[in-house]
Amino acid sequence: MSLFITSLNSGSNGNCYYIGNETEAILVDAGISCREIENRMKRLGLYIEKVKAIFVSHEHSDHIKGVALLSKKYNLLVYTTIATMIHGGLTVEKNLVVLFNAHEQINIGGLSIIPFPKLHDACDPYSFIISCNNTKVGVFTDIGGPCKNLINHFKQCHAAFLETNYDDVMLEQGSYPYYLKRRITGGMGHLSNKQALDLFINHKPSFMSHLFLSHLSKNNNCPNLVQNLFNTYANGVQIIVASRYEEIPVSHITNSYGVKSGRKTPNTSSSQLAFSFS
Ligand SMILES: [Zn+2]
Ligand SMILES: [Zn+2]
Repeated sequence: MSLFITSLNSGSNGNCYYIGNETEAILVDAGISCREIENRMKRLGLYIEKVKAIFVSHEHSDHIKGVALLSKKYNLLVYTTIATMIHGGLTVEKNLVVLFNAHEQINIGGLSIIPFPKLHDACDPYSFIISCNNTKVGVFTDIGGPCKNLINHFKQCHAAFLETNYDDVMLEQGSYPYYLKRRITGGMGHLSNKQALDLFINHKPSFMSHLFLSHLSKNNNCPNLVQNLFNTYANGVQIIVASRYEEIPVSHITNSYGVKSGRKTPNTSSSQLAFSFS
């Protein structure tokens, strides 16, 4: 089995990533409104009925804004930790909350999800790696630095959403106050283009097919700049910028590198097939 993945939004204004197989799906974070999630999924031909759970990476509002309402409306399980719930003021129906532990695998139908801790200035932040049979996708945003956990998991991914938050020069020469610049670059903030590129060059597995540049800063980065930077080193990997403003086309990730098909999912009629496989 393979995975269908997309970013519904990515950036400090809201994050929501969809990862699913042919029968079920999860969202990593729901940091845009319930309505936007519904509209964007619909435009992509994705069915919200397939979504079984929301995994919450950490309590910052750009990751949790839509969680409570979406969970309530569709009876979705919310996988999180006590600390994140308390610090984020997350008010999810008690019976829909599932607490997870670092490094412990969670199975949802044919999907397996492993949360692992990351460096970020939140109370209890996690990244996730999602697999279906042997196809693996990572969601790695809001990361202060490339820790051992991140490197180990990145090496296993057929595709990854990887934070490229800022260009060093743009941030340094930009208008942010000193304390904010230090917060971003201080090891518990965000990953720079250069840090992400180093990770990509040094630890990209040979079977990686897609890299989604994610959580770009509006003020301290430029989609074209980072796209061109990564294209130079892509070496066959498809580089896609995850937008701050809209959903991006669904990508089909398989575990056989080089074989990318545009076949449709069984429940999707051709008239509803809004996927644009990339
Ligand atoms: Zn964020
Ligand atoms: Zn954050």
